[in-house]
Amino acid sequence: FDQRDGTIWFNGELIPWNDVRVHLLTHALHYGSAVFEGMRAYDGEIFKLTEHNQRLLESAKILDFEVPYSVAELDSAREVIAANHLSDAYVRPLAWRGSEQMGVSAQKTKINVAIAAWEWGAYFDPAAIEKGMKLKFAKYRRPDPATAPVHSKAAGLYMICTIEKHRAEREGFADAVMLDWRGYVAECTGANIFFVKDGVIYTPIADCFLDGITRRTVMGLAKQRGWEVVEKRISPEELAEFSECFVTGTAAEVMPVGSIGEYSFVPGEITRTLMADYAALVHPAKSIAAAG
Ligand code: PMP
Repeated sequence: FDQRDGTIWFNGELIPWNDVRVHLLTHALHYGSAVFEGMRAYDGEIFKLTEHNQRLLESAKILDFEVPYSVAELDSAREVIAANHLSDAYVRPLAWRGSEQMGVSAQKTKINVAIAAWEWGAYFDPAAIEKGMKLKFAKYRRPDPATAPVHSKAAGLYMICTIEKHRAEREGFADAVMLDWRGYVAECTGANIFFVKDGVIYTPIADCFLDGITRRTVMGLAKQRGWEVVEKRISPEELAEFSECFVTGTAAEVMPVGSIGEYSFVPGEITRTLMADYAALVHPAKSIAAAG
């Protein structure tokens, strides 16, 4: 992935993709002092750019460092899209402590920021759209907010996500559903989760995991349709009561779930409608073209 054409925005400058270098003694590599974002561009426009930029700054503050660019300055992500002639793309801003000091204390390290972008299609197998994805329960749980900075999109919090995603993939599943530290359903390794019962939408309270920008967008779309959305604690045993399940995320968009371990779901009207509403919102040109 590190050798290709293109340019990356690196501390305020566009640099050829293959020339970007960080030192081995980068603090973030050793101590996890990094935060990131994941955004998508549709038809060359980054969806919810400001919200993502704000979250990057907030994530860094939670990790006790200040991103040296404002929300508006981080709109440079648009330059990255333009410079790389991208249309439908994934955009990855990253902020991290540099290599000026080695040790737990890192007050003197420079805060670096980079924005990379690349052409990108579906996150999950598009073939799963009909039946829904096959998920399993993860072994690791989302940590207690007293244990980790759970509301930061901190690189370090993804260590257990990668372990669980790999475990799921090895066993033939698309992803893993992580419980929270109390044992309630929390989220997937890179997406939030929703359920449907009797026409009402349920989703876990985002009190110990990322309150996704897509999660909030989809909740708004559901309300526009007149559907009730209830945020509540959901125990794994309760999954037997739900008829539909879907996940949301910048990368995942709205994806139906067919099963989580022994519990099965059938993608129905609410899931299908929200998938279409989200697609129309992010990609208006395409949905108009399809309609025409
Ligand atoms: N949870 C986790 C762990 C994630 O990595 C993501 C993706 N950023 C989400 C939820 C969904 O967040 P968003 O909708 O803001 O992409």
